Amino acid sequence: MAVPAVPFAWVVCGAAQPFLQVIYDVEVPRIAFGRVCLIGDAAFVVRPHAAAGTARAAVDAWSLAGALKRHGDVGAALADGESGQLALGQQLLERTRRISHRSQVDCNWVAGDPELIFGLHGPGA
Ligand SMILES: Cc1cc2nc3c(=O)[nH]c(=O)nc-3n(C[C@H](O)[C@H](O)[C@H](O)COP(=O)(O)OP(=O)(O)OC[C@H]3O[C@@H](n4cnc5c(N)ncnc54)[C@H](O)[C@@H]3O)c2cc1C
Repeated sequence: MAVPAVPFAWVVCGAAQPFLQVIYDVEVPRIAFGRVCLIGDAAFVVRPHAAAGTARAAVDAWSLAGALKRHGDVGAALADGESGQLALGQQLLERTRRISHRSQVDCNWVAGDPELIFGLHGPGA
């Protein structure tokens, strides 16, 4: 059975006006639409367990800049970068879902578990 974190219980019980902030995942099946594309949070909003939303938005932008340099044509550049950026968003979302399930459903987090280290491409990466 999970042991309650007493200091956190004090904070919650001592709040005069507690509130809940619901966090939703957002994922898309496509990010490139002709000459228009989705990057950053417009494409994927991932629950916070990897603290990687900012890094992912930056990688999307760098990847887009690289594809635009490689291709003369905007549509070709966006199509070129789509599968890699979709895969990155999907793997990050899958990982954060797995971690959050451990913290909030299975309650089997162990302090120091390397899987819990923040990172975009993987723990610590
Ligand atoms: C409370 C909180 C804590 C977070 N903590 C972390 C963290 O610790 N580490 C981490 O990596 N990520 C964190 N994130 C996630 C991170 O902030 C986002 O993933 C990241 O900012 C996404 O960058 P973005 O450029 O896609 O979008 P944004 O940073 O949201 O930028 C979008 C910009 O577009 C502007 N905009 C919107 N509509 C229009 C319009 N019609 N015309 C012109 N401009 C417009 C907005 O004002 C905004 O400036 C956190 C997010 C929240 C909400």
